[in-house]
Formats: sequence, C-alpha cells, structure tokens
Amino acid sequence: MAENVDAQHPGAHDALLQLIADTAPAMLAYFDARTLRCRFANAHYARNFGLTPAEAVGKTVREIVGDAVWQQIHTHVERGLRGEQVRYEREVLQPPAPPRHIESLLLPHFENGVLQGTVVQIIDVSRHHRVAQQLRDSEERMRKFAEVTTEALVMHRDGIILDGNEALSRLTGYTLDELAGRPVLDYICPEFRLYALQYMRSGREDRFDAAIPHKDGHRIPVEIEAKTMPEEGSPYRIVLVRDITVRQLAQERMDFLAQHDQLTQLPNRVRLNQLMRQALSLAGVHKRPLAVLSIDLDHFKTINDSLGHRAGDLLLCEVAQRLRGSVHAHDLVARVGGDEFVVVLTDAPSAQAAEIQASHLQRIIEAPCSIDGTPLVVSPCMGIAMYPGDGQSPEDLLNHAETAMQLAKEIGRRNLQFYSPAHDGQATDMLKQEQMLRQALARNEFELHYQPQTFTASGRLASFEALVRWRHPQRGLVLPGEFIGFAEARGLISAIDRWVMREACRQARQWQDEGLPPVAVAVNLSAVEFRQRDIAREVAQVLQDTGLEARWLHIELTESTLMHTSGQVHDTLLALKELGVGLAIDDFGTGDSSLAYLRRHPINQLKIDRSFIADVPDSEDGTAIVTAIVQMGHSLHLDIVAEGVETPQQLALLRDLGCGMMQGYLVAPPLPADQARTWQLQQLQHLHHSHTDHRQ
Ligand code: C2E
Ligand code: MG
Ligand code: MG
Repeated sequence: MAENVDAQHPGAHDALLQLIADTAPAMLAYFDARTLRCRFANAHYARNFGLTPAEAVGKTVREIVGDAVWQQIHTHVERGLRGEQVRYEREVLQPPAPPRHIESLLLPHFENGVLQGTVVQIIDVSRHHRVAQQLRDSEERMRKFAEVTTEALVMHRDGIILDGNEALSRLTGYTLDELAGRPVLDYICPEFRLYALQYMRSGREDRFDAAIPHKDGHRIPVEIEAKTMPEEGSPYRIVLVRDITVRQLAQERMDFLAQHDQLTQLPNRVRLNQLMRQALSLAGVHKRPLAVLSIDLDHFKTINDSLGHRAGDLLLCEVAQRLRGSVHAHDLVARVGGDEFVVVLTDAPSAQAAEIQASHLQRIIEAPCSIDGTPLVVSPCMGIAMYPGDGQSPEDLLNHAETAMQLAKEIGRRNLQFYSPAHDGQATDMLKQEQMLRQALARNEFELHYQPQTFTASGRLASFEALVRWRHPQRGLVLPGEFIGFAEARGLISAIDRWVMREACRQARQWQDEGLPPVAVAVNLSAVEFRQRDIAREVAQVLQDTGLEARWLHIELTESTLMHTSGQVHDTLLALKELGVGLAIDDFGTGDSSLAYLRRHPINQLKIDRSFIADVPDSEDGTAIVTAIVQMGHSLHLDIVAEGVETPQQLALLRDLGCGMMQGYLVAPPLPADQARTWQLQQLQHLHHSHTDHRQ
C-alpha cells in the first residue's frame, strides 16, 4: 500500500508517512547505516530531544541526544548501527518531571543482505515500571510480613504448595524445601481432608478448626483461615495456620473445671451424673447390679471449725485419694458436697458383696492420718442404694443412697445402711431434728441428771456422773443415746459438752456452797472434740469461772480417744492432770483395749462397761473378764468402777473381786439435780445413823 501511495503522489509520500508516524504513541526515527545520520524522525521523537522532525533529520545520534545521554547509550547504538537488533532500557531524569523509563528497540534494515539503516523505536515504559515496582514492593511487603509474623503461612496454587514462612517450618518441623511442590492436603490430618478440600474448592475465607501432623508424628490442633490472592490467570491461596494447642488445653481445662471438684480433682455432681448414666446403661446391657454409696464424714464440721479450713481441705484430699486408690479403675468416685462423696461400685454382684466392699472402704477411711502434723481420725457414714432394685436413674439412686446415709448418721457414727423405701421422708425429719437440737441449745432445753458412784464396801458416795438429757417440748425427756451420736455427726457435740461441763461444775460448787460435803462430778467428753479442742484451757477457764476446785471434777473418756498414739492427746491429758482433774476411761472393754495406753496416759479410773456387769455372776466368761479387768486395774493402781450394777448378786461378786466402786440402778438411777441433793442428804443421815457400825 505504501508503494501505491508512493507511486501515485510522490510528494505526498513523505508527508503521509510523517503524519502516520506522528500519530503513533512511540518515538520513531531512522538512521542511515552509511552516514550514521538521521533520515527520519517523528514529532514525538524529535520533541523528546527539543527538536522538530526537520531539525532532527541529518543529525547524528550523538548530536540529537547530547553527550550525556550518548555516554549511556553509545554501546547499544553502535551495535545497532552494525546491524544487530538491540533492546535496552534506560531511566530518563528530567527534573522537575518524575523520572521516566523508556525502552528502545533498534531494528536493522537490510536490503538484499546489505545493511541500509536502523529503525529506532522508543516507548515510554514508565507505567509498566511502576506496576512492576509496585508488584515487587507488594511482594517484598508480603515477604517481610510473612517473615515477621509468628503465624504460620503457606501459599498454594490449586492445592500445590508454593511457599511458606519460617513459622510454618517451626510449627510443622518440615523445611520449606520439603513442603514446596507437595499437595497441601497431605499436611492435614486425614479426618479433616475432605472438609479442607471442599473449603479450598469453594474458595471460602472463613476459619475452621483442624489438626495437622508434625513431622515427628504428633498432632497439632490448628485453626485454618485462607484467602484467595488474585493474580492474573491463576490466583493462589494464602493460608494462615494458627496453633491452638494452648487454646484447646485451656478449653479442656475449663471443661474439666466445670465438671470436677477443684479441691480433690474428683468429678463433681454434674460429671457424676454423666458417668453414672454411662455406667447404668452398661450395667443394664450386661444385666449386672451396681452399688451406689453415699459417704459422709462424721464430725467433719468439728474438724473444720477447730483445726481450720486448710486442715479440713487436706483431710478431704486425703479421703479422696484413699477412696480413689481403693476401688477399681472403672468404679466411680465423686465429691458431691462439702464432706460428701459418692462411690459407684460397678463390680458388686450382690448387696452382700457391696457391703463387704463398703466396709473395706470404711476401714480405709478410718485409718489414722496426719494433717500438718496433727493426727486425725475420721469415720464415714455410708448409705447404699442398689441398681436396679433401688432405682433406675442416677438421680433416684443418688437420692436413695443419700437417704440411707442420713439414716446411718442418725443412728450414730461409723454406720452403714442400705436404702429401704421406708426411709423416705426420714431425711427431712433429720434436718428438722438438727434444727431442733440447735434450738435446744439456744433455748436451754438440756438438763443434767446425776447418778451416784459409790464405794462397794461402804456404800458411801464417791462422786456423781453428770448425764445429759433433753427436755424436748413434744417428746418429753429424751435420753442421750438418741441424740449424742447425731450431735457428734452434725458437729453439735462441742456446744453440748461445753454446756454440760459448765453446768456440772456450777452445780457441784453450789452444793458445796449449800453446805453439803464436797463431792466430785464426772462429765463425759466426746472423743472427737477431745482430740480437736484445747480442752485443758477450756476446763481451767470453767473451773475458774465456777469456782470449783479441780479435784472435784472428773472427765470420762472413751477408749477410742486414747487409742491413737497422738502426742496431742497425751499432752492434753497431762495438762488436765496438772490441773488436778481426775481422768476416767468409760465403757472400758468395749473399744480396742490396750494395756499400752493405760500405762502411757495419766489415767485414774477404769469404768467397766455395763455389758460385762450384766453377765455376772451367771456367765463364767463375764465373770472372768470382770476379774481380769479388776486385777489389771489393781496392778496399774487404778480405781475400778463397775457400771450398770442392778442386782445385789452383782454387787456381792464385785465386793469379792475387790472392785472398789460401783454405779447402777441398784443404788440409784440418774437423778435430777434436786433429787440428787435430797439423795445426798439422806445418805448423810443414813451414814450418821450407821456411823458406829461401819467404817470405810
Ligand atoms: P455412760 O457414760 O456409760 O453413762 C452411763 C449410762 O448407763 C447412762 O445412760 C446411765 O443412765 C446408764 N446406767 C446407769 N446405771 C445403769 C444400770 O444399772 N442399768 C442400765 N441398764 N443402765 C444404767 P445414759 O444417761 O442414757 O447415757 C448414755 C451415754 O450417753 C453415756 O454413757 C455417755 O456415753 C453418753 N452421755 C451422757 N451424757 C453425755 C454428755 O454430757 N456428753 C457426752 N459426750 N456424752 C454423754
Ligand atoms: Mg460416762
Ligand atoms: Mg459408761
């Protein structure tokens, strides 16, 4: 076509070419190979060097571009003018304009194999440059970001790993070289792969939890969040892999806390219910019975109040450990309240078997323990409900076991009861009873009766035992057997015994003030609080307050008080002895009698339990036992008191054996204070009359 134009309008040829060239966005010029001078330049080219096209024509490259630029480009130009095709780029600095980038293309023009000239085409590539730079900048930014972030990042295109950061290597244990080129799904734990694949395919950008394998094989819980990065043609995905081990541990810890007792780490009631449901369904399938034990510690309140909460806490932990350590792994142990535990025996083929296991647990709990150096003994009360007989649901079984336990408590310490439907409703009775007992203290409903202890030889009064009674508003006079055990279990015994001690001392002193010959009063002290209160100090205070001399006070202890080789008990006994208070062992022979403790502790008196006296003189065994106790007492220089003497035959035998003192209905039952006073007066008169006949 150019030829056509050329042929038709020779003059227009150059003008048209010039027009077309001037409208092109590029700078165009032609240099003659022979003369090395410009033969053609479009306006754009010429203007770039401050010339018009006409001015440019005829000039050499050096003349057009100037020396400075020539220095930069002459090697390219010389190559071009030798016939090579050359492409080069350079930066153009023409302040104040912003730097530009231009790309020059030198195209050799041959005719018949002979170099004629070179076409120069220059285009402004500043925009490309800016874009490329921006891209480089953003890549740099991304790289730096990936470097500094502690989050693991992995980039993949269509599921094939392109790159990752240092944190990814740290997290997974794989080097980036090992990862690059591998399918990203290979590094997700199998159970999450399908989900991850769908997530990837649908281009989702939300988060999900999964797990990935570490190179060493362990699982790492992670949170994954991916973003699609647009890139021409082939977008890639950048994936953030966040280690959530800590978060998951915290979550697990929180779940654990919600379901476990913080102190003992045992399951709490919530968790117990879940575990029981599982155990029950298993037991149902295998048609196996199951025993639910509700366990409550006797006197826990007293321990907590007297030794402090820390000691109480330590004791609970100790009990928890003992329980857990004494049952099978598949049995359940839970703490469901202050001092209440539940054990579910999954291996109890019968009620008898359950009872054997429960008694075993009882003994284990009762073994002495040392809390912060203080020796302590606790005994549990237990209630047992059997599945399926006593209930089908965890709730029913727990309720029924608890009902049985409440009953066990009411009956006395260290007791074990099976549930029976007849027990229902008794628990509320118990609560009422506890409340009434508390009120009894406040309303002064207790009173003391005094039973004489006399010398067997002369019948003279040796002392009075003060025995507590409860003047119940509805039930009348209630004997201690009905509420002492309960009061011990409910932590009310201290208050009762304190009152008894003070009242007995006050009464003894009052009789003296009334002119009666001084007589000692004996008070009973519950074993628990003896071990857990500063008895000696309290006694000293009571004696001081009431003005009674110490020698007129006796304290009766049971063998269980002394059973343990506790330094504290011994110290207390010594302190009491120091005060001048008499010490007696009550109900001797019913507990774990041991010569050792009789020798060790400063005891004055043994009281032979009335069950032995009831047997004499008819039973040989009974007689033998009483004989042995009396002789042992003599050899240890202890006073011996026979309890529950009801017949003259018993008295006769005791006299023969040399048992010095007696107490029992034969002489007198426990008497209200005014009657005890009358009794004393009568005895004085009687003695006065028989004074000349008898001497004691
Ligand atoms: P204990 O200390 O062995 O008291 C003697 C018990 O034997 C008294 O029962 C008394 O009434 C009873 N008894 C006395 N002579 C005879 C008899 O000839 N035949 C029969 N069958 N029984 C006789 P009581 O008053 O019912 O007291 C029972 C137990 O309650 C006491 O046994 C004592 O261990 C406890 N107790 C009583 N008062 C208190 C108290 O103030 N504090 C504490 N911690 N316990 C107390
Ligand atoms: Mg007594
Ligand atoms: Mg007794």
